[in-house]
Amino acid sequence: MENVIIIGTGCAGYTAAIYTARANLTPLLLSGTQPGGQLTTTTEVENFPGFPEGIMGPDMMMAMQKQAEKFGARIQYATVESISKEDDGIFKVKIGEETLESKTVIIATGAAPRHLGMPNEKELIGHGLTSCATCDGAFYRDVPVAVIGGGDSACEEASFLTRFASKVYLIHRRDELRASKIMADRALANPKIEPVWNSGVTEYLTDDKSEMRAVKLKNLVDGSESELDVECVFVAIGHVPNSSFVSGLVDLDENGYILQTPGRTSTKTSGLFAAGDVADHFYRQAITAAGQGCAAALEAERYLADHE
Ligand code: NAP
Repeated sequence: MENVIIIGTGCAGYTAAIYTARANLTPLLLSGTQPGGQLTTTTEVENFPGFPEGIMGPDMMMAMQKQAEKFGARIQYATVESISKEDDGIFKVKIGEETLESKTVIIATGAAPRHLGMPNEKELIGHGLTSCATCDGAFYRDVPVAVIGGGDSACEEASFLTRFASKVYLIHRRDELRASKIMADRALANPKIEPVWNSGVTEYLTDDKSEMRAVKLKNLVDGSESELDVECVFVAIGHVPNSSFVSGLVDLDENGYILQTPGRTSTKTSGLFAAGDVADHFYRQAITAAGQGCAAALEAERYLADHE
């Protein structure tokens, strides 16, 4: 029987692990399909306090893992299929053939990249369609590529891709970026980045090897259509929270984010807490996810003390 199972190993999960481990609760972390979370797919993190020179996302996550393990947190590489709570108050966490038992659970599963929903999307992933510039950017040297989106992620991806690509088209559905001013200015000042304003991608076009060769564009102001030759499309249009496996025990908002008790990380099921991007559609920052991980750990600790 575990005291605390933490599902997810992003900033929220590792912070919850550091706190619960230091409280002698020997937490078990379940890593999911992307150990280290979203920051493992990013480049430099410039806004996490304590790193004036910035730190690479994967390095930061490795440091968090090391810190959690140092205090006794254990990590199991497993994807949770479902959670239930029995009449005796114990949670059952199903991972494949195995079912784990725990007195409390902290859900810190984050969010996954959103896609446009094109019919040939699944087949194209890895063949010219991706949401991770750090993972795939280097495969597209001296060729034109496109980034879809207008937020911080799109600007960051576009700036990073200029290291490799001959040209980076930044395709956005409006004529103004949503990104923070510093990221937007940096992207728009880069001579290799060409914004394509007021435009939506209506089709991914492939060559005879089923690799991406172009996108079909629709101008959302005048309705005109055109084609843009690109060898890779990097989609950066936001995220979908990873919350489907926990249905029943929590309430979700209309976009699938877990609803917490106002001002707390607790959910409608006592002993079940949610932290980070799976519950936060508003801030979605590494530092706020870490803060929520800390809060969830403290709440779990108090819940256990009250129920011992
Ligand atoms: P985001 O801020 O939600 O931006 C998503 C972008 O995609 C928006 O420009 C949106 O257009 C566009 N979009 C959404 N759905 C679309 C669709 N169906 N078709 C076409 N375009 C669509 O997401 P994000 O850029 O991933 O950022 C998420 C959070 O992480 C933000 O809080 C951001 O500040 C943070 N972040 C920070 C950093 C950093 O500071 N280093 C880096 C990356 C992300 P509209 O603008 O028209 O809505």
